[in-house]
Amino acid sequence: MSLLELSPARCVRALSVNSLCSLCADVCPANAIALGERLPSINQSLCVGCSGCVAVCPSEAFVLDDFNPTEFFFSFASEEGNLVSCQKNLPCIAALSSEHLISLCSLKKGLILDIGHCSDCDIGIKVLEVMEERIQSANYLLEAIEVESRVVSEKISYGSDEVDEHKDRRDFFKTFHLRGMVKAKHDFDKEVQSTTDEFVEIRIESSHTQELRTKKITDRRKLFFTALKRVEKPSQFHVVDASMIGFTSQKMMDEANCTACQMCYRVCPTAALTSDMRNSRIDFDPFLCVKCHLCHDVCESDAISVSTSYNLTEWFEPKVQNLITYSVRRCDECAALFSSVGGEKICRRCRLEEEEALELWGLNR
Ligand code: SF4
Ligand code: SF4
Ligand code: SF4
Repeated sequence: MSLLELSPARCVRALSVNSLCSLCADVCPANAIALGERLPSINQSLCVGCSGCVAVCPSEAFVLDDFNPTEFFFSFASEEGNLVSCQKNLPCIAALSSEHLISLCSLKKGLILDIGHCSDCDIGIKVLEVMEERIQSANYLLEAIEVESRVVSEKISYGSDEVDEHKDRRDFFKTFHLRGMVKAKHDFDKEVQSTTDEFVEIRIESSHTQELRTKKITDRRKLFFTALKRVEKPSQFHVVDASMIGFTSQKMMDEANCTACQMCYRVCPTAALTSDMRNSRIDFDPFLCVKCHLCHDVCESDAISVSTSYNLTEWFEPKVQNLITYSVRRCDECAALFSSVGGEKICRRCRLEEEEALELWGLNR
């Protein structure tokens, strides 16, 4: 059995009260994740350790104590064979994201997902639904980048001697004498936590401040681009249906709606959106976007949209694109520099103060 942990500062819900991300709770087949006021809460006794939330979280905020998808990726890529199975090498096929499927399939010249045990598994129905979508998306994109191999699902049966024995959580007690006291205490605390049958609320502490500010590219994105480098460049870069890509996006910005508040680039967890020292522009790097939707959630004027098509040039020759350029001028009220889109003469803060004063004195009717 596993213990699921959330790195609070990595969850995009920690970056803004406007975040609507619920991917982990939506995908969990055991209903072990609930969305609290801010961060997800976890019920360890319901968690079955399938790693579905780890695979779906855009910012890799979840970790399981006994399965690391990146370590799995490297060991699997270096071994013979292309079969992944909950009976052999990973907790559940749902542990693999679409990026993992594409990367492994292109490196291994084909990938087989064993679904032969899903019908006997409590979470199997939901896992099959989720994986069917991911397989479809992976194969659509593999075809578009002109990789011939495909991800397939197959029902595989094993003899009892072929199945790897799962380590039981209670093995912890058997190995107690082998460990140092500090490690044993840590494991004991985790053991107690894992048997709590309540949703445990997770909070942001002041110690997370630095991590909250750090922009980070996910491990699976690094693996994805490393795998793409080993693939032959397609004869042409196709433009594909963006709704078939769940893990990245192409953005557009509407100049008429943008208020130059610059919230979007400040909250972006990966630095896919950036600005310059003068705040005179917003640029977008599609290589880094993890489609967490946070920039859309914080944009009060709905100025950002996702393109309905996606040009696969971004995967082979990624370029940073300018989405909007502002004029930077001094505010007529406070003399501070500010970015403006429509020739405004006073900065946003002064304008809000002015609006508040008018409201207070009933002069804005
Ligand atoms: S999927 Fe990840 S980012 Fe989204 S709410 Fe869950 S933990 Fe947070
Ligand atoms: S796109 Fe939206 S969030 Fe970004 S600067 Fe413009 S108004 Fe602000
Ligand atoms: S650009 Fe938007 S959707 Fe993409 S990673 Fe940044 S905040 Fe998330």
